[in-house]
Amino acid sequence: MRATTAFNKMLAIPGADVAGVQFTPNGIVVSLRRRARRLRCPCGWSTRAVYDRSTRRWRHLDLGAARLYLEAEIRRLVCRGCGRVRTETVPWARPGARFTGDFEDVVAYLAQRTDKTTITRLLRCSWEAVAAITVRVVATHLDDARLEDLYRIGVDEVSYRKGHRYLTVVADHDRDGAVVWVGEGKSGATLERFFDQLGLERAARLQAASMDLHGAYAKVTGARAPQTRVCADPFHVVKLANHALDEVRRVAWNRARQATGIKRRPSGRIRTNPAANLVKHTRWALLKDPAALTDQQQAALDRLRRTRHVLFRAWALKEELRDLYRLPEGRRPDAHLDAWLARACRCRIPAMVALSKTIRTHRQQILAAVDLGLSNSKLEASTARSASSTTAATATTAPPLSSP
Ligand SMILES: [Zn+2]
Repeated sequence: MRATTAFNKMLAIPGADVAGVQFTPNGIVVSLRRRARRLRCPCGWSTRAVYDRSTRRWRHLDLGAARLYLEAEIRRLVCRGCGRVRTETVPWARPGARFTGDFEDVVAYLAQRTDKTTITRLLRCSWEAVAAITVRVVATHLDDARLEDLYRIGVDEVSYRKGHRYLTVVADHDRDGAVVWVGEGKSGATLERFFDQLGLERAARLQAASMDLHGAYAKVTGARAPQTRVCADPFHVVKLANHALDEVRRVAWNRARQATGIKRRPSGRIRTNPAANLVKHTRWALLKDPAALTDQQQAALDRLRRTRHVLFRAWALKEELRDLYRLPEGRRPDAHLDAWLARACRCRIPAMVALSKTIRTHRQQILAAVDLGLSNSKLEASTARSASSTTAATATTAPPLSSP
């Protein structure tokens, strides 16, 4: 059987035949020949008159380990219904899409069941693509029934197009974080639209909502569903702690480097500086889950520990805050957090003192999340997310650490 025939049978693309197959370093490119002569506008109007032609590629579902692209001529027409030049529709993709309908449907299906990082890894496409598809497909497909029986929700902001555009995503904690609502924007006004759609009756049934600590979402939730307990999303709490720790490391590094600058040998060579060596290469050792450290990272951490380095003290504070989300049975979260706050505000490390102030402001919301158990699944899902971001938050599964 010829490759084109095989692909024709296997892909069974509606309204087109496979005309050729190309194996390229980027993946398999299947060129299609359209069966229909008529051009159809997205509005439904059709004609045989071609305005102009070009070639377009659509990403299709992977074929084993290879990316698969469909390639076909796509034409534009002057639509009498719309009164302007428009691009024809093709049976295998939605208007304007660069992915096939099958691909988008799989993304949409997964978006309602798992987090976006898992999707990007599974389907090997970018975060931006997932976000764009989520808006186009999930948002139009989400029926109102998803908003029934909502009790515990998570509100999250997702950025795409390199941080220039934002989505507000509402997920249902009681259905494994399934996406129930997506809106463009990240302001309180975006979440207002969610509450508009939810309506008074359903909003009155909400019990808890987890979110970041910025305040815009919390304010809207408090106004539209005042009985809801607002919880601080553990992922964002750990992220704040990691940011503070990174700040401590930066300060320590700059100090050590300045010291190096002074101690130049007459030969011009920089004398090895023990202070700088301690701080060097510690970034990931400090941010990673202690259970996942490499031997080298563990050694770097041990050196800091032995010298009671400021970085070690800051790291221990970060880990103790994370312990809040993995306390053994019987330990009181409020007592643990209060003890942490007392230590952190007296530690004399500026970034950690500042962190303790933020944490104190949100004490209630942070404890609410622990109390309602809106932490574990959420944190684990976000571990993958953070692995690709600059600041790593770590999983909840590691055993609690005792600081020396
Ligand atoms: Zn039209």
